[in-house]
Amino acid sequence: MAKYRNTNPVLTRGYVGYYNFCMIKDLTFDKSTITSLKKIVGSNNIITDKEGVYAYTFDCSHTESNYNNPVMVVFPENTKQVSDIVKFAHANNLPVIPRGAGTNHAGGCMPLHGGIILHFSKMNKILDINPGDLTCRVQPGVVIGDLQKAVDKFALYYPPDPSNLAVSTVGGGIALSSGGPRTFKYGSVKDYVINLEIVLADGTILHTGSNTAKNVTGLNLTQLIVGSEGTLAIVTEALMRLIPKPEAKNVLLVYFNTLDEAVNSVTSILNHHLVPSVVDIIDKKTINTIEDFMPTGLLCDKEAALLIEIDGDTASLPYQQEKIISLCKDNNAAHIVCARNKQEQEKIWMARRSAFAACAKLAPNVITEDVVVPRSKISELSKGIEKLGEKYGIITLIMGHIGDGNIHPNFALDLRDSDTRLRFEKLKKELFELAVSLGGTLSGEHGIGCQKARYLNLALSTETLDIMKKIKKVFDPDNIMNPGKFL
Ligand SMILES: Cc1cc2nc3c(=O)[nH]c(=O)nc-3n(C[C@H](O)[C@H](O)[C@H](O)COP(=O)(O)OP(=O)(O)OC[C@H]3O[C@@H](n4cnc5c(N)ncnc54)[C@H](O)[C@@H]3O)c2cc1C
Repeated sequence: MAKYRNTNPVLTRGYVGYYNFCMIKDLTFDKSTITSLKKIVGSNNIITDKEGVYAYTFDCSHTESNYNNPVMVVFPENTKQVSDIVKFAHANNLPVIPRGAGTNHAGGCMPLHGGIILHFSKMNKILDINPGDLTCRVQPGVVIGDLQKAVDKFALYYPPDPSNLAVSTVGGGIALSSGGPRTFKYGSVKDYVINLEIVLADGTILHTGSNTAKNVTGLNLTQLIVGSEGTLAIVTEALMRLIPKPEAKNVLLVYFNTLDEAVNSVTSILNHHLVPSVVDIIDKKTINTIEDFMPTGLLCDKEAALLIEIDGDTASLPYQQEKIISLCKDNNAAHIVCARNKQEQEKIWMARRSAFAACAKLAPNVITEDVVVPRSKISELSKGIEKLGEKYGIITLIMGHIGDGNIHPNFALDLRDSDTRLRFEKLKKELFELAVSLGGTLSGEHGIGCQKARYLNLALSTETLDIMKKIKKVFDPDNIMNPGKFL
């Protein structure tokens, strides 16, 4: 049968999704492949029909669900099953695409060449919490919010929070080295991974390190797998570091009439040896969009607002708060809101967390980008992004983890329009060139996936890319692990 290829540029996600679905050819695996996979995972843990599979062929990027080879979804329940699936895939040269909650923005779990989607929702157990060692042992499908709640019972804390902790998984977080607002003080996922159980491309199961706080025994395979986006191996179990839960916290929302004043305040705070747990920024357009979507009383006439969270010993909090207020006032803060209780803290966080959903009201598509620069260049980056939006006529909203030099511009646009698509592609390339020219790079926490793969040479030298490709060959000589992504 002739292969169908969707070349229609107007097809995209959203309400044309159904049309797109109809256009995808009914590509199912042959009976013997399905029977073999059923033998491994059982009949209840497999989806092979077009309607069922389709739902798993998207993530939070704007990549079209457009594949020309059969796809199936399997739900392994243990490491042995993962290993047997990968052995089967290896023997039959089939792609294997690991998938957590599918919330990544980079097209990281798109089955571009068809294959077997490994969905980890049935490997979602917290196997052990060890308060003595300050560790927990988890399966990859554990939802981050569930982990945070479970360790909280022991007065422990797992800080990485990719802003959607109610759904995103530990496995996805490890594969992307996800960050989130608290990276500023506590680091990203990479700082919490101690040891991994992984399945290699031929089905071999191994551990990357040891279950100790320190380890310099051989190469650091653990950190090689962290951030490798499922292109080297499948993570089937992880030993994660925990920290004692901070005793108290509070949240401040500080408004400014200029972006520079907001940036200068962050510099002042750092220069005075204060380390808030969060220093995020939202610009005027984002503030107004949030207010239109879910009014919480944000001040819509201010150019920017800093969301600052402080935590630590109860006794230290008033000092931190007063000092930060005073430093922000020195930098012309226009208005300062200090949460007086948990409800007020939550209200501020709700506003921040709803930013992405709010932006989705502006146009049929919202694309969240992720660029990072040295902190000192954040003002230049933000202004440059604004200019790019104006140059290409695309609604551009700025928010991000300013404390880390990490900006997430949101672009609201209509991807059904081929001219808009073209303009956005140009904007995107210039955005990455801008970040690199400021000493930054293509992604701080969302990863590369298939969306940014073609821009890697902007940030990495030929030699660096070459050694990465050689490493990929060692792990995955037949290119079956999440193919079509950055390696
Ligand atoms: C509203 C919103 C806000 C966000 N904010 C942030 C933020 O502030 N910071 C941030 O860092 N991210 C953010 N993200 C991006 C995303 O949520 C995170 O990257 C998250 O960690 C992805 O987890 P997931 O379970 O959805 O992974 P998925 O999207 O399912 O997968 C991500 C990648 O990991 C691979 N993978 C998944 N499981 C495994 C496994 N077991 N073994 C090997 N590879 C695997 C996949 O193949 C894919 O390449 C946000 C997303 C949304 C929608």
